[in-house]
Amino acid sequence: MDFLNTLGIKANNFGAATGLQWLTTQDQGQFDISSPVDGKAIASVYQCSTQDYQQVVETAESAFKIWRKVPAPLRGEVVRQIGNKLRDFKQPLGELVAYEMGKSLQEGLGEVQEMIDICDFAVGLSRQLNGSTLHSERPLHRMYDQYHPLGIVGVISAFNFPVAVWSWNAMIAAICGNVTIWKPSEKTPLTAIACQNIIKDVLAENDVPEGVFSLVIGQGNVIGEGMLNDKRLPLLSVTGSTRVGRHAGTVVASRFGKSILELGGNNAIIVSQDADLNIAIPGIVFGAVGTAGQRCTTTRRVIIHESLYDQVKGILVNAYKGLRIGSPLDENNHVGPLIDTQAVNMFSQAIEKVQAEGGNLLCGGEVLSGPGYESGCYVNPAIVEADNSFQMVQEETFAPIVYLIKYSGDLDDALAIQNDVVQGLSSAIFTNNLREAENFLSHWGSDCGIANVNIGTSGAEIGGAFGGEKETGGGRESGSDAWKAYMRRQTNTINYSTELPLAQGIKFDI
Ligand code: NAD
Repeated sequence: MDFLNTLGIKANNFGAATGLQWLTTQDQGQFDISSPVDGKAIASVYQCSTQDYQQVVETAESAFKIWRKVPAPLRGEVVRQIGNKLRDFKQPLGELVAYEMGKSLQEGLGEVQEMIDICDFAVGLSRQLNGSTLHSERPLHRMYDQYHPLGIVGVISAFNFPVAVWSWNAMIAAICGNVTIWKPSEKTPLTAIACQNIIKDVLAENDVPEGVFSLVIGQGNVIGEGMLNDKRLPLLSVTGSTRVGRHAGTVVASRFGKSILELGGNNAIIVSQDADLNIAIPGIVFGAVGTAGQRCTTTRRVIIHESLYDQVKGILVNAYKGLRIGSPLDENNHVGPLIDTQAVNMFSQAIEKVQAEGGNLLCGGEVLSGPGYESGCYVNPAIVEADNSFQMVQEETFAPIVYLIKYSGDLDDALAIQNDVVQGLSSAIFTNNLREAENFLSHWGSDCGIANVNIGTSGAEIGGAFGGEKETGGGRESGSDAWKAYMRRQTNTINYSTELPLAQGIKFDI
């Protein structure tokens, strides 16, 4: 595995770093990481201790005092160089993402491309951190608002986008003048170590102080919990399940910290009677089985007009029969493994439960065994006819199960079904009817943070703000003006007169 050497992954790795420096505690035990692709051990990682964590935070606090004074465009220059390093290491990092997490090599490379794209975006943004200039009601006064950095941004990320989520947060946070402490998923720590190794030369060549980009690897309920409760971290960006996000949001809010919550989805595609099935079908299949159903934006429900229902069902079942399931490193395969056998069990249980509720399993649902499937993490993606009200349909099962739901009537009927879940991340409609498309996108249409027409639910570009409503958490990351969440806002009023008039015309003579 050449990519492990290229990325500096050793047999035993330390689990905390402040930049160039690795902290060397070994007494907390280590994680053994094996690949869901072939079940083989890859490497192990020592968990960050409380003592290491304190050192990381103290170093980050000192770094912030220096980094916030570096002009934003010069911070952008460092991020530009990080983007170039990621270009140099795109192939090996994409391979490690695929091998450690199990997504296809194409998607692994795509994830690294997303990191490069966000670096480019952040470089441009470093010259555009703008506020408004406002007219004062008082003569010879001027008002404006401006944005200042917050301090230490804690980033807690999920296993399914093991590196992109860090870059979405860390690169935007960095150009805003913040420093970052990243706790990756304990299921995918090696890709995080690789990122730290990739950026180290840029940090050294630019004299970036230790503590601007830090890493702590450990259990969510230990190190992650510590971060939530740590008042020295004014902002926590948490990507993960709604269960963890609900807890994180409550803990951080109780200490008046800020949080960006990027949580679970239950994403639907509406196939209207005016859909172009030539694009709808591949959109549904990629959305439902890509990354083995482990994207937050995975298509979990397909809401089909009754006039097309049987036709769409037939084509989808046929398409699923042609899916090639196997190693994600083999580019001929469509579907790779789930992250671990626990995820496989949840997949099997969900299939059982939805059938007990009355769901009709049309195809798939088996756990695969035999040559090529030794890791025990491969499953056959399932299609189930179901009712939107079923408990399993209301929940996010992080695996390739797609529910087909029939609607009759018009778009309002389809929207009522689509919006009738607690999550609100991504949504899509396939239609050639302009009125339907515009109604879907209107404020009485989809209630999700992402709403697409004639493309599927997954595969967002970094230029837009990414995130969702309701129990998806309400946070926004990445493009557009999402950067404002990483800064504190200040309103300034300047008096250049020789008088002291009060606002609202209040008189106060002394
Ligand atoms: P998870 O909730 O199990 O873990 C996410 C992260 O939270 C991990 O780093 C974990 O260690 C940490 N964590 C766990 N308990 C914690 C605690 N008590 N305090 C602090 N941190 C804690 O999620 P997962 O299985 O890694 O990822 C899958 C989930 O993530 C899915 O629900 C998916 O939809 C969601 N997700 C959402 C987005 C989005 O942008 N909306 C993106 C990717 C994934």
